[in-house]
Amino acid sequence: MTIYLINPSHVSFGIGVITPRWLYVLASATPARYESPVLVDETLEAFDTSAIAAGDIVGIGIHTGNALRGYEIGNAARAAGAWVVYGGIHATLYPDEAHELGGAHAVVTGDGEQAWPMALRDCVAGAPQSRYDGGRVEGETFLPGRWELLPQGRYMWASVQTVRGCPKHCSFCSVWRTDGQRPRSRHVDRVLEEIVDLRRRGFRFIALADDNFYPVTLEDLRMAGRRQDPSELHRLQGIRAERFALMKGLELLPVDTVFFTQITMEAGEDPEFLDAMRRARIKGALVGVEAVTPEGLKDVYKSFNESGESLVQRLRGFKEHGVHVLGSFIFGLPSDRAQTFDATLAVAERANVTFAQFVMLTPFPGTLDFAAWEKSLGDDPPSVNGVPVSRHWLIPQAQRPKVYIEHPAMSPDEIRRRTQDVWDRFYSLRSIWKRSQGAVTSLKARLAFVLMSKIYRQMYANTGIATDSARVNRSAQWARLMAIPCRRVFAGRPIPDLKVPTSGQDDSRRMIPLLNRPM
Ligand code: SF4
Repeated sequence: MTIYLINPSHVSFGIGVITPRWLYVLASATPARYESPVLVDETLEAFDTSAIAAGDIVGIGIHTGNALRGYEIGNAARAAGAWVVYGGIHATLYPDEAHELGGAHAVVTGDGEQAWPMALRDCVAGAPQSRYDGGRVEGETFLPGRWELLPQGRYMWASVQTVRGCPKHCSFCSVWRTDGQRPRSRHVDRVLEEIVDLRRRGFRFIALADDNFYPVTLEDLRMAGRRQDPSELHRLQGIRAERFALMKGLELLPVDTVFFTQITMEAGEDPEFLDAMRRARIKGALVGVEAVTPEGLKDVYKSFNESGESLVQRLRGFKEHGVHVLGSFIFGLPSDRAQTFDATLAVAERANVTFAQFVMLTPFPGTLDFAAWEKSLGDDPPSVNGVPVSRHWLIPQAQRPKVYIEHPAMSPDEIRRRTQDVWDRFYSLRSIWKRSQGAVTSLKARLAFVLMSKIYRQMYANTGIATDSARVNRSAQWARLMAIPCRRVFAGRPIPDLKVPTSGQDDSRRMIPLLNRPM
């Protein structure tokens, strides 16, 4: 019996940007009495399902974008006589769909750390349940990845998770609904152990793959401080102290280690936090700017962000404290007009963000926007080959329309054209070269910066926005070629004897020995 864990993808790049963490975490959750699972990441190369045999167990993790390819693999696996188990955000949101269309024997909803071993046990016994509710496990139960199973030289960045959940409730995001609004953080020593494991293997660029690395803001503390009962304040202070303890621990790692994370803009008003990030060598953060006007921020329930000139100052604050920003902007908000595109580009340039992404407002399942959009389509939504567009992920890739929330003043084509134009201008060779001057110093580093900027644009702008499949394929081909030298830029020297620093964080949370696999 072979256990497979499969990350489906309809497009492969040969080399991955960030390790698909869930594969390696579920490998850890696979009890040691079974053979190590075979890990398959189709973003590297397509998987030949004829390898699957009767009696095998196939775990498939899906998000909305890769659900259809996942169902294709699941059906092939079931036809071969294997047990098929689904998990991931999309399976959590639509568990019945995996049964109806993907050949599922079982679906794990929520976190997989504890539910996956149960599903495995029952498959081996020949009697899986149709549903396993993994719930939201506490930070002490998060598992490290089994990184010894990584293929050599295939990924640019490693990934480690330090906290799950986000207290915000942005309308276009499903994280707060699936991972919850209460931050669940791992013990600092567990995080350091995992990072050292990866550093020993030669990864020096590590993504802290958190929903929100800054789960407690100064405003949260101020508000809790006004309450008579101090318990909430103490709880928030505890979470904040853990963040600082983690960053103190990161400081003790080799000086050429580089971290990247995602964070809300409010961190920009917290110089103490930004300075700790700089010392911890968290050199970059994805910041969800979304909109540059108060109306746009209101559209997405993100009024806690700044707009206008104070937005520029807030974003500049990150760079002044040594943290580069990857600014994420959304186009197609109801209040957007033709001039919003130029205004957004101007803010991105004046705010000195090092990288930027410009996405079109898309109704992702599990979000408030999706619920409103689905309702707006009525009882008889338009369809493609009989599939309603409200289930667009089930339409084959070649015919799948890009779906966008209807805009009061612009057509989807106009929004797409203007969005593409902003990408083109932000990532013109001239602009990139100019930005490289403020980002890095040596000529070699500047050239690497240009390469990274171009590959980023190619992977995310052309494959994400374009509706023309020939263009998507050309972009994937181009990104595939550029990914090879790019990976070399990120590769580090293995340090097999690197010691794990200790954080000094209270160890009473050391509830289970996380580096041991469950029996
Ligand atoms: S977009 Fe970011 S800040 Fe908003 S809910 Fe999602 S993770 Fe939280």
